[in-house]
Amino acid sequence: MTNSSKDKKGHGPYKTATNLVRGGVERSQFKETSEAIFMNSGFVYNTAEEAAGRFKGDNDGYIYSRYANPTLSVFEERMRLLEGAESARGTASGMAAVNAALMSHVKAGDHVVAPKALFGSCLYIIEEVLPRFGVNITLVDGTDLDQWKAALSQKTAAVFLETPSNPTLEIVDIAAVSDMAHKAGAIVIVDNVFATAIFQKPLTLGADVVVYSATKHIDGQGRCLGGVVLGCEEFIEETLFPYIKHTGPALSPFNAWNLLKGLETLELRVEKQTDNAEKVADFLAESLAVKTVIYPGRADHPQAALAEQQMKRGSTLVSFELEGGQESTFKFLNRLQVIDISNNLGDAKSLITHPTTTTHSSVDDALKAELGISDGLVRLSVGLENVDDLINDLGSALN
Ligand SMILES: *Cc1c(COP(=O)(O)O)cnc(C)c1O
Repeated sequence: MTNSSKDKKGHGPYKTATNLVRGGVERSQFKETSEAIFMNSGFVYNTAEEAAGRFKGDNDGYIYSRYANPTLSVFEERMRLLEGAESARGTASGMAAVNAALMSHVKAGDHVVAPKALFGSCLYIIEEVLPRFGVNITLVDGTDLDQWKAALSQKTAAVFLETPSNPTLEIVDIAAVSDMAHKAGAIVIVDNVFATAIFQKPLTLGADVVVYSATKHIDGQGRCLGGVVLGCEEFIEETLFPYIKHTGPALSPFNAWNLLKGLETLELRVEKQTDNAEKVADFLAESLAVKTVIYPGRADHPQAALAEQQMKRGSTLVSFELEGGQESTFKFLNRLQVIDISNNLGDAKSLITHPTTTTHSSVDDALKAELGISDGLVRLSVGLENVDDLINDLGSALN
């Protein structure tokens, strides 16, 4: 087993801020300060023997950017150090990461358990794609440990969960679910997008695999798509990597470079956005036009104790339900002057969305009602603007 907190040269462990700025740096012969972008698809060999040896695995080096690329490797190493994982592999998007983590592991006859409260595309993979390949699935209320217990069996190969969930910010008990899943022989895959690695470390809570949409907080500046899967060396290198290498959801070196630049400021941005989110949540809770505020960092969150136990802080996201239906909610959204209407999240710019008509429009009405995704529910991703401007914008639009 490799030491997850040390870099490849055996240095460290370093603290998060140091890893985010310097993790994985490999300078070329030109000794550039910032990471270079290796925008190439292939690599050349000095001799035919070297090429043959490279394919055999006798000499180290790159072969083809669908497999690996120097810029991508720096991103993977920086993510690995941030998460404290043994191994990491980048992908073209968050969904490519989710798909590869699940599809590389399960086979026909296996069983997968997941909460109903999932990002729409994750729900599609679990509900629509997996059953087509003979994988049985069970969806549970992620907050109810009895339902998890009843769903898990010796046939369960994987548990896939997201916490806090989108858009209702429900908290799943990662340690308790991991414990039950391991007893059934299943691996636990956590989509850690909403919490980020700054506030929640699923691997230390017992999860086996962590996936990210790097498009969200890791880039955090609306520039590119990306994803990453992290876990133990055996899973990442022997199960996931052959699947990625041969099916091709490769992360572009240019995007990997953008994500490296994003990682340098990840902690600063997430902490500051959360400072802003806390103030926005407190302001909304006082507003008469707001029926409920859902924020994991507030004492009135239904699972405040669990949130405090497994997350360092709340989140950059605040969800809230307005009095009145879709018409008045649309009116509110249309009146915002600073905050943009967008389904993206984790960005430096504050973005707001109406889940029931956008991100969750394909979810059937009964499930939406069960999950609390009502006509008055909005999800706000709080950005880096001055918080007074955000509060004034929300206040004027609510009046
Ligand atoms: C956005 C998101 C994804 C998908 O990521 P993409 O980079 O858009 O493919 C998966 N899970 C969660 C929780 C997300 O927010």
